[in-house]
This record gives sequence, structure tokens and C-alpha cells, in this order.
Amino acid sequence: MSQEKLTQIISLCKRRGFIFAGSEIYGGLSSVWDYGPLGVRLKKRIKDIWWKEYVEKRSDIVGLDSSIIMRDQVFMASGHLQGFTDSLVDCPNCKKRFRVDKLENVKGNIYSCLDCKQEIDIEKNKPRKFNLMLKTNMSATEDDPNYAYLRPETAQGIFVNFANVLNTTSKKLPLGIAQIGKAFRNEVTTGSFVFRMKEFEQMEIEYFVSPEEAKKFYEYWVEERYNFYIKRIGLKKENLKLREHTGDELAHYAKACTDIEFKFPFGWSELEGIANRGDFDLSEHARVSKKELSYFDSASGKRFVPYVIEPSAGVDRTFFACLSDAFCSEEVKGKTRIVLKLKPDLAPYSAAVFPLLKNKPEVVKLAKSIFCDIKDELPALYADTAGIGKLYRRQDEIGTPFCITVDVESLNDGKVTIRDRDSMEQERVDTTKVKEFLKQRIKFY
Ligand code: ATP
Repeated sequence: MSQEKLTQIISLCKRRGFIFAGSEIYGGLSSVWDYGPLGVRLKKRIKDIWWKEYVEKRSDIVGLDSSIIMRDQVFMASGHLQGFTDSLVDCPNCKKRFRVDKLENVKGNIYSCLDCKQEIDIEKNKPRKFNLMLKTNMSATEDDPNYAYLRPETAQGIFVNFANVLNTTSKKLPLGIAQIGKAFRNEVTTGSFVFRMKEFEQMEIEYFVSPEEAKKFYEYWVEERYNFYIKRIGLKKENLKLREHTGDELAHYAKACTDIEFKFPFGWSELEGIANRGDFDLSEHARVSKKELSYFDSASGKRFVPYVIEPSAGVDRTFFACLSDAFCSEEVKGKTRIVLKLKPDLAPYSAAVFPLLKNKPEVVKLAKSIFCDIKDELPALYADTAGIGKLYRRQDEIGTPFCITVDVESLNDGKVTIRDRDSMEQERVDTTKVKEFLKQRIKFY
């Protein structure tokens, strides 16, 4: 069932233009994906909702857009050049390569292959460490290289700008700095669609607090982010759960971490991590750069290096979760109907307008005028390239909440048929009230 669902989602993404394989006409590029015309719409909605919620609506968080390419010193200080590695092992039977931390432990050093289920003895098959950093050469010549790195998390751009933001905004703690942007990891285990990519996008907040308040804000952010997925993104509660990391699982910088996990087609996996990074990053950057990165609290008269709470979400994993959560394959009158029951404000289009008869000029004219009226305020499309059944099917598959059909009767009674994506119920609505009808049902956040 789950493998079948994954295959159906990937096929829908390609068929309808959500996601394509990267460099596809040259045979693709492992773990690299491109977002198509519908994919960018949905992805942008996710980012817009996050940005509005945390940057535009709050006075304790400001935005940032720092560069992807960063100096090697940044990642020496952050520990990524030394410690950002995955331990990988090859299955002696099927030869596939796996991350040791993702394998099922049978007992002692014995693990079970995720694919062929053969036992893998870690003593004998010696896992090897792979650094995940992607490197680029900033020099004009190959002989005299000047290496820089593509950031593996947007967070480091925030830490190196901490003093700039503090000085230019005159903000007091608690202060959050939020950023949406690309991150790069040379992931070696591949094959889970946009769940694990080499180039992906993150939505991160570094929330700087006093050490005493770190625990309180850590708990606040775990709850806040969990609720965000339910209320703002519309994911089903039963597909989400929290999982706290145990000591040996924690990243080198973290004091505590909770993952928000989603039930992906291949099982429960991380959607977002919320970490208490302590004062690790600011202290290390201060030490290596020899710049002052502490904070003076005028209320207490104390100077300290702030702790940071980091809710770090993946845009692509949220995108995938939306598709997986909304994907339905149901039986209607003996036929299979595939429908994406996306939260209406996330859908690539809010409405689609069709003329029932495209060779009837008056019908076409009315349909086009309704479309033009809607599209200034809501994302809408006009389609007349197929029969009504096919047009409905296409809109169901891309998650369009409402389809509006103009027929000959519309010319007499001034009404159109509006069909609801989920219930498939149809109602006649006055042409002058169509936009209002949609706006009442689709609340853009
Ligand atoms: P995993 O254990 O699955 O590799 P991680 O713990 O390394 O993930 P973090 O470093 O906590 O991930 O990154 C924060 C978020 O960034 C993740 O929750 C995820 O949503 C996203 N993310 C991380 N790596 C990738 C990737 N390779 N492709 C897509 N999204 C990613």
C-alpha cells in the first residue's frame, strides 16, 4: 500500500507538473528534483504562510536572506567540516548503501538491511564516514583553488549576522531571526523522492533567549510548530507525532531536540526538528572570528552569550507531507477518482472556469468574463481543452477546490454551476455572486 501510494504520488507529480527529475533530458541527477508550474505554486504558498505567521505577524522575529556560499571558517567554527558526517555501510548481499542510524538494530553489532533484510554485521562490514558538505571553488583558476562551501543549513547565515541584526534593529531578547532559503547536503543515501535531496529548502528560526529561559521557549516552540502543521497547513493530526531525541542521537551542537514526525508513505519520518542549541554556535563563532557576539541585558545588568532555540523545517518535506496527506484514490460510480484534498488556500488554483460549449461564443464570452473577474483576487484558471468529465478529473488531481461551469442555461438565468472538489456536489450560483462565494469558502491566511 505505502509503496503503491508513493509511486502514485510521484506519477501524479510528473503527470500534472508538480515535480520533475532534475536534469531529466540528460537522464536525471540523483536526489535532485525540479518544481514544475503547479509545484512552485504550492511550494510558495507553504513559504508565504510560514513567513506571514512568524515574520510579518510578530514583533519578536525579524527576517533575513543571507548568502548560500560561505567561507570555510564559518564551518570550521560550526563544527560541520569536522563533524557533519553520516556513517554509511554497504549491505553484503544486495550491495545497497545505507545510513547506519537508519538501519534496524537486531542485536549488538548486527543490523537488518532495509531492502533485502539480510543481516549486516557492522564489525565485519565496517561503516565509513562521509562528510555531507558541498564544496565550490571561488578561484578563477583550478591550479590555485579558493574553496568555499554551500551552507548545509540556513542557520549559519543567521549566526554570523547575529550582531548585525541586533545592532541595526535595537531589539531586545527574546529575539528571533527567520530565514527561508536553500541548503545543500551531499546525501549519499538516495531514493526517497523530495524527502531527501542534495539541494533543498529550509524555513528556520533562530530564537535567541537568555540561558534561564531556554527550556521554557524550547517547550513553547515544540507546541507552536506542531500546531502550525495542523492549523495552518491542514495536516491531519493522526499523521503527526512528536519524538524527543535520546542523548546519543543529539547533533554535536544540541542540548535537546524534538522531531515533528509525519507519516510519509514509507513510514514515520522527520518533518521538522526543534533543537535547543545552547550557546554553542555564538560561542564558537565568537572564538574563531574573535568578534563580540554576546548580549548585554540592561534589565539585569548582565552580559551573556544567548542560548538559541531552533525550529528548523524543510519546505520540500512539508510539500511532500501536504501531497501525501491530501492524496485520495476513491471509487466513484465504479471508476477510480484521484483527488488532492489540499487545504483550499494551499491549492495551486482556487477555481477553474469552463465553458460547457466552446463553440458557442456567448457561453465562451460569459465564462471568460467570470474568469477575468475572479483572477484579479484569487488564483484561477480557464480551461476548454477537453470534455467536462476530463476537465473535472484534472482539477481534482491538482486539488482545485471549486470548478465553475458556464452552460447555455447560464445565458438565460444568469447562473453558473459550482462544483465542490471534495463532496462533488454542485450548486447554481448567480454570476454576480461567484467571487463572493469563493472568498467565503477559501480563506487566505
Ligand atoms: P535526517 O535525519 O532526516 O537526515 P536531519 O536531522 O539531518 O534530517 P536537520 O539537520 O534537523 O535534518 O534539518 C532540518 C530540516 O531540514 C529537516 O527536518 C528536514 O525537513 C529538512 N532537511 C534536512 N535534510 C534534508 C534533505 N536532504 N532533503 C530535504 N529536506 C531536508
